[in-house]
Amino acid sequence: MAGQAAEQQQQQQQQQPQQPQTPQEPQEVAERPPWLGTTAEHCREMVDRATSRNPTVKFMIQKMEESGCAVGKDFIQIEKCEAEVGGGFRPPDGVVICHNHLASQEEINHALTHELVHAYDHCRACNLDWTDCQHHACSEIRAAALSGDCNFKQEVLRGNLAVRGQFQKCVRRRAELSVGMNPYCEGARSAAAVDAVFEGCFADTAPFDRIP
Ligand SMILES: [Zn+2]
Repeated sequence: MAGQAAEQQQQQQQQQPQQPQTPQEPQEVAERPPWLGTTAEHCREMVDRATSRNPTVKFMIQKMEESGCAVGKDFIQIEKCEAEVGGGFRPPDGVVICHNHLASQEEINHALTHELVHAYDHCRACNLDWTDCQHHACSEIRAAALSGDCNFKQEVLRGNLAVRGQFQKCVRRRAELSVGMNPYCEGARSAAAVDAVFEGCFADTAPFDRIP
């Protein structure tokens, strides 16, 4: 199975040498000044703290293991990212956390949970195709809803007044932004894909019983 996935991945990379399909998370303008981040060392400490103490991150890692996709020590890579992104998932090797764009423990916890939802989706669905806009949209909707990206505090920090329905609006907006970074799903394609799968994917909270 893993060999087959690796082969598919290789074929994909051969077709698209300069654009490996990586779901990644753009940062929204109001989130933080572009110079705010931290060192790779400090980021690693926060990642270690998240994986050893944060209940949501620990739960996701446990579920990955139970699904046959154990998270090894090299699975989470700390990198300096040129693009305005907080992190990404690089199938099949792992999660990328951008130390130069994330500064607090809370942000690291959210980013890790978000990318682990992608990793979990990649693990459980052997036919997940990241170049398919609806597949990608489904995983982004789930990641935005389950990671804490759209909790009340995060939205207020972005300058979005918390009103009725704000959580779902945020999930939709975050998913559209991330899907829009996929070269196969730019512009209106992204919104259309999110729209098409929103209801079903928003309701799918696996491996959680409900939105944590
Ligand atoms: Zn994502």
